[in-house]
Amino acid sequence: MIDTHTHVYEPEFEADRAEVMARAEAAGVEVFMLPAIDRESYGRMFEMSRKYPNCKPMMGLHPTSVNDNPDYREDLALVEQLLKGTNEVDRFYSVGEVGLDLYWSKEWQREQTEVFERQVELSLEYDLPLVIHVREAWGATLDVLERFRGQGVRGIMHAFTSNVENYRKVKRLGDFKFGIGGVVTYKNSGLAATVAEMALEDLVLETDAPYLTPVPFRGKRNEPSYLVYICEKIAEAKGISPEQVASQTTENAATLFGV
Ligand SMILES: [Zn+2]
Repeated sequence: MIDTHTHVYEPEFEADRAEVMARAEAAGVEVFMLPAIDRESYGRMFEMSRKYPNCKPMMGLHPTSVNDNPDYREDLALVEQLLKGTNEVDRFYSVGEVGLDLYWSKEWQREQTEVFERQVELSLEYDLPLVIHVREAWGATLDVLERFRGQGVRGIMHAFTSNVENYRKVKRLGDFKFGIGGVVTYKNSGLAATVAEMALEDLVLETDAPYLTPVPFRGKRNEPSYLVYICEKIAEAKGISPEQVASQTTENAATLFGV
């Protein structure tokens, strides 16, 4: 399996990173996609992807890192510079994670939109898939994607927890997969019922570790080995085997990222 979204380079894993990676591999997780956040954490992400060749870095500026950030244009320039300077060791597999997040504040929507749009352009320029973060910003995100319709935009709607209507809308706007994580195991989320109506060819698995921990470990730190609980829940929702879910979602992710 491929964990298409995991922050294993973060300090939460400092003490036992080797054990976490060993448990993941024992659970059948073979590739780990590392989403970039901002200049504060790029170094840790590079360090991890150099040490573990099955950890594949993305590059991007996260929308919440634009909030209250007078230097956001310089931070965006750094993303451009890093994408341009890609060498064999540090090639990037995606422009991510990028998008819009109006949960914490709506004050920087204009700035977030500017940064998101530029990064959609970069994904097209470098022919890389996007990994899009959306929180309390579905309408605004669809508006941005609408402006790029027909230009070959592709990628993943990360931590998808929305409804079938938005699933169908996004599919009309580009070649998108949908990242399903621990929320699918939360009874009150209703996500399992939504997933039952989504095509298996449109789904990829993600933990978003250390966040969004699936049941039965909800409330504790998340880690990539817990991908099996997400896989099993999707299988149950769709009435198929976990092996089918694992094999199709792996193919979806491998094709998208070219891994
Ligand atoms: Zn993330």
